[in-house]
Amino acid sequence: MSLVEQMDTVTDASAGTVDRHATTQTFESTNPASGAVVGVFPVHDAGAVAETVARARAAATHWAELGFDGRRQRLAAYRGYLARRMNELADLVHRENGKPHGDAILEITLTIDHLAWAGAHARGTLGPRRVRAGMLAADHAAYLEYQPLGVIGVIGPWNYPVLTPMGSIAYALAAGNAVVFKPSEYTPAVGAWLAAAWRAAVPDAADAFQVVTGFGETGAALCRAGVDKLAFTGSAPTGKKVMAACAENLVPVLLELGGKDAMIVDDDADVVAAADAAVWGAMSNAGQTCIGIERVYATERVYDRFVAEVTAQVRTLRPGSDDEAAYGPMTMPSQGDVVRRHVSDAEAAGRVVRGEADPALFPNEHFLAPAVLLDLPESSPAIREETFGPTLAITKVKDAEEALERANATSYGLAGAVFSRSRSRAMDLARRMRSGMTSVNSVLTFASIPALPFGGVGESGFGRIHGEDGLKEFTRAKAITRRRVALPVNLMSFSRPASATDALARVMGMIHGRHR
Ligand code: NAD
Repeated sequence: MSLVEQMDTVTDASAGTVDRHATTQTFESTNPASGAVVGVFPVHDAGAVAETVARARAAATHWAELGFDGRRQRLAAYRGYLARRMNELADLVHRENGKPHGDAILEITLTIDHLAWAGAHARGTLGPRRVRAGMLAADHAAYLEYQPLGVIGVIGPWNYPVLTPMGSIAYALAAGNAVVFKPSEYTPAVGAWLAAAWRAAVPDAADAFQVVTGFGETGAALCRAGVDKLAFTGSAPTGKKVMAACAENLVPVLLELGGKDAMIVDDDADVVAAADAAVWGAMSNAGQTCIGIERVYATERVYDRFVAEVTAQVRTLRPGSDDEAAYGPMTMPSQGDVVRRHVSDAEAAGRVVRGEADPALFPNEHFLAPAVLLDLPESSPAIREETFGPTLAITKVKDAEEALERANATSYGLAGAVFSRSRSRAMDLARRMRSGMTSVNSVLTFASIPALPFGGVGESGFGRIHGEDGLKEFTRAKAITRRRVALPVNLMSFSRPASATDALARVMGMIHGRHR
């Protein structure tokens, strides 16, 4: 029986979730393309969340004791399970989030790659090592290791319901922590499926990864349930609430928030490639991508050609729920209102080029036509606020310096892209872009390279998932010294002679005093 079949009832939907307390309230998740019910899930209250965290804490000890090899084997079993059932999971993602099946396959593939990397690199990144003790402690051996924190609470969004939470979950598990995950109320079935898959693939550490379902209150309860760290991915306003709730108990937070990512198209760019990448970066997943391209600054030398290429491509895009559709519906209906507001403001302030597909033929109002927004003032909502829809604002600038200045003039700072044929020029612009990630001559690529850290600056949050930084994010550094030999003089003892510190001062003067 497939996991989806097992999840047909509230009780079974809790295969990877708590069900003991789910006696009263439930909620439905629906298919945004058809309105059909995908599943019914418990609204876990504070008591249920606390019980789940307690079970996770009990499991955390065993999970940590399995060591790097034991965890690596089990993470491999999990990714094997996901790989074998990839189509089943992709179908569920398609039904609950709305994105095309092929996009869901891509998302799951990236997730499996991250699981493999995290499992394979945990020991090398976090395992015990000896470091140099230095001259002042030459009689000591010095050791460093990164220990698990215990239980990590993970709160996720709906736009990439597999990849985004797994960016925290996989790395937290590989580092030796247990995880309690609260998926978005728009994608609880995917979250429950991921936890049920864990129980099936890793039965001897089933409670190391559990799911609780519900709305914001369930997420807030998780912040206050005694977790050792809270990894949040979602919007900046909610991130602030999460941080405030966690501050009550000094629970550290990792915040992966929204963005307003820009692409710079320089004089010497491959304009066709830049246009292709911009359209994919802006419109795929209906623009509901935290690292999606929302703004382009193209130099006056390439602007006309770039706009012509982009608009030609965008005209051919059609949203829908069928296999040929370029992208699906807005997953969260209220986001459609934000997109419509930004586009109607753009109609008043600049120019809007829409796709040629007839909106009257779209399955319902949650499917939005692609729109290119030209020549908007920098004060426009579509330039300043996260749109999170199938739109792309293109602005003409004098040169790449002006492009960079405008790209950086945002409170967000998640990612971005630079198109230029000059490697040194592109790398220089990439370095000076105020963002956590920048791709040169492509878009979004950094998310598919597990060794690279992922995270933002400013209102895009702080902390890093993925890569070595992502593993360390879920640990505490532990320092140990061991006295190897007893020297005749111990500087940190009341028995030291006065001459010892005089000699020390002379030696330090000789070594460091010559530097001016
Ligand atoms: P959201 O902030 O509305 O919700 C995110 C999660 O927080 C949901 O699970 C929700 O139930 C929960 N939540 C709501 N109120 C809460 C509270 N008071 N306490 C605790 N939890 C609470 O975000 P969303 O609409 O689900 O996701 C879209 C946003 O996520 C966009 O801004 C997007 O850019 C961002 N995002 C960022 C990244 C990244 O890696 N930086 C990745 C994906 C999405």
